[in-house]
Amino acid sequence: MVPDAPGRALAYRTGPRPVPGPRPVPGPGQVLIRVSACAVCRTDLHVVDGELTDPALPIVPGHEIVGRVTTMGEGVEAFAEGDRVGVPWLGWTCGACFYCRSGQENLCPNARFTGYQIDGGYADFAVADARYCFPIHGGYSDAEAAPLLCAGLIGYRSLRMAGDAERLGIYGFGAAAHIVAQVARWEGRRLFAFTRPGDATAQAFATRLGAEWAGSSDDRPPEELDAAILFAPVGALLPAALAAIRPGGTVVCGGIHMSDIPSFPYDLLWREKRVVSVANLTRADGEAFLDVAPRVPVITEIETFPLTAANDALSRLREGRLTGAAVLVPE
Ligand SMILES: [Zn+2]
Ligand SMILES: [Zn+2]
Repeated sequence: MVPDAPGRALAYRTGPRPVPGPRPVPGPGQVLIRVSACAVCRTDLHVVDGELTDPALPIVPGHEIVGRVTTMGEGVEAFAEGDRVGVPWLGWTCGACFYCRSGQENLCPNARFTGYQIDGGYADFAVADARYCFPIHGGYSDAEAAPLLCAGLIGYRSLRMAGDAERLGIYGFGAAAHIVAQVARWEGRRLFAFTRPGDATAQAFATRLGAEWAGSSDDRPPEELDAAILFAPVGALLPAALAAIRPGGTVVCGGIHMSDIPSFPYDLLWREKRVVSVANLTRADGEAFLDVAPRVPVITEIETFPLTAANDALSRLREGRLTGAAVLVPE
């Protein structure tokens, strides 16, 4: 995959596969990974569509990478050649700033992100800092494991931000939601799913994953919710979610980008309702979630695409025509 010349909107070239170049060489502390699967995240769409402001262009997208270590850089001890590893969005942090030193490396102002400032997994090979890779255990195939690395991880952080909410609403029932739903049900929560109006397929999917109610995002749920998570990048859903939660409840915005939030009456926020966003992940989130996932067990619903069909996968995601997660598999 070779991105077009840097520009506002990045399109990815289709057509014949480019002749492979020399394999990248891992530097000190890095590993070279042969990519066996890379899931497609909504953030990739925001990168490709030029909606995020700080990409290192040209960039290879993809931050839900599963593969095998083929070459070790100097000083890497955590992994051995042949190990199966996962590479998430958080690719590097400074380790020295206030946030890094206080358990909030997800907020490090110097952080670099995979598939955004570091070349990612829409590729045959990827180089990653070994300190930010996770071992992938459990009976997951490579393609099944890939969506755990962002949809799962960020979804899990969003769920933790929802506190101990028993009645949980989820707006936008895609890759992250389908994983969070399984964890939420396993934790004994009650689930209410909101989809695009009229999206019967997504509503049926949510019901199958344990939602006791599934309706349109402009519907009111049958009872008050304790918390709601917004995975859909639609600012207009925030007032709707605030209207759906109880006093003292929380709305969690789980995406990296959202359209503008329309103004709304203060009454919707009054009575100690809270709005919080989720930014990135910490390595501790990754360790916690990758420990929980096989115990639930979280089952990922995937649709695989050859790497050369990355544009099709992105289009399907943009149009909401995916059930579960798209995963790219190099030929
Ligand atoms: Zn830092
Ligand atoms: Zn992501």
